[in-house]
Amino acid sequence: PRFRETAFSRGVARLDQLPADQGVEIAFAGRSNAGKSSALNGLCGRKALARVGRTPGRTQEINIFTLPPAEDWRLIDLPGYGYAKVSAKQREHWDRLLGGYLRHRRCLAGLVLIMDIRRPLTDLDWQMLEWTGANRRLHCVLTKADKISRQEAERQLHATHARLEEAGIEASLQTFSALKNQGVDDLRGLLAEWLEE
Ligand code: GDP
Repeated sequence: PRFRETAFSRGVARLDQLPADQGVEIAFAGRSNAGKSSALNGLCGRKALARVGRTPGRTQEINIFTLPPAEDWRLIDLPGYGYAKVSAKQREHWDRLLGGYLRHRRCLAGLVLIMDIRRPLTDLDWQMLEWTGANRRLHCVLTKADKISRQEAERQLHATHARLEEAGIEASLQTFSALKNQGVDDLRGLLAEWLEE
């Protein structure tokens, strides 16, 4: 995959606006402000592919990016969640959009769950894992690792792995820092495997 050539395609607010369920998609999910946009920008070696510090709480869309050289490889930026209390109607929209996508999308090769290393596995992160199910690949990116010591980061990595294992969830994990460009090569390597398998 030529991550640097990733290009924004469009945003969709409804599942029936998604492209045909063909090819290979890799989805990125995370709590608002976890660092998902920054991680996507780091992955693609770009400054402003995904918008950093987007006003949280706005009606959000699924943003679709194309990833060369394949015509039908896509990176899927799912709406951030959990920033503030949302109305029942917003929650319903979110459940339908994210839940529907994660449960039913056949071309979804795997989910990359972006979490702030200082507070991984929030309630809504678990909801994402439940929707994603056991039959999909899952990779957890613990970002903002520059905010804590290397020792503390290792401890969080192991603790998070243990919590997932305890819940019977199989996942790969890594630490990451968009600020320090740390973990970018590992993430690229893993996603290349997912795409090319
Ligand atoms: P999103 O809402 O999940 O897309 O999060 P953003 O990428 O917009 O980041 C939220 C805030 O965290 C912004 O102020 C970023 O500058 C900051 N941030 C993101 N990644 C990192 C990181 O790796 N290290 C540090 N120190 N700050 C980060």
